[in-house]
Amino acid sequence: MKKHRNVFKMPKGVKITGRSSTITNSFVNSIIPVCHPSDEEVLGALEILEMDPDDVRCSYCGDPFTEWDHFMPLVKDKKPTGYITEIENLVPSCGKCNQSKSGKNWKDWMIGPAAQSPTNRGVSDILERISRLERYETTFTRIHIDFESVAPPELWELYWNNLNELHAFMKTCQSTADELRREIKHNIKL
Ligand SMILES: [Zn+2]
Repeated sequence: MKKHRNVFKMPKGVKITGRSSTITNSFVNSIIPVCHPSDEEVLGALEILEMDPDDVRCSYCGDPFTEWDHFMPLVKDKKPTGYITEIENLVPSCGKCNQSKSGKNWKDWMIGPAAQSPTNRGVSDILERISRLERYETTFTRIHIDFESVAPPELWELYWNNLNELHAFMKTCQSTADELRREIKHNIKL
């Protein structure tokens, strides 16, 4: 009997308010400048990472790359860190590492026990990888600015007010959804 219960898992319910952190994250990410690199700049970055342009690997674990990860995180505590999207702040990564690293400090995460971190996955050449990334960190100067100081305070206030209003409206929408769901369930007499 117990065994059968283990084979069932209730699908997670979807809630409008369940998207709150995604919305906050998009608000922060939407204001961060993006600089597209030239081919030469991409090759220069790969050279410092000692990577073959025809066989680009994840800088953190060595798996084939699938994306470029923000080396220094763009968002911390729901605010922009001051780093931007530019080649100096991007390294080739695999999806596993990108998701596991998230907003953490790259080196702490690499040697730490987070799920899917290079240490946790037993990556063998981790020390060589760390020293290549240290060189990447020091070779490039990356933009790190106080965003608040470079735009008018009224615009910031408007923007964060918009976010608060959106969160409040999502709560209103969720209450209406809850009421509708109760009605539907009641009327189909489950
Ligand atoms: Zn990886």
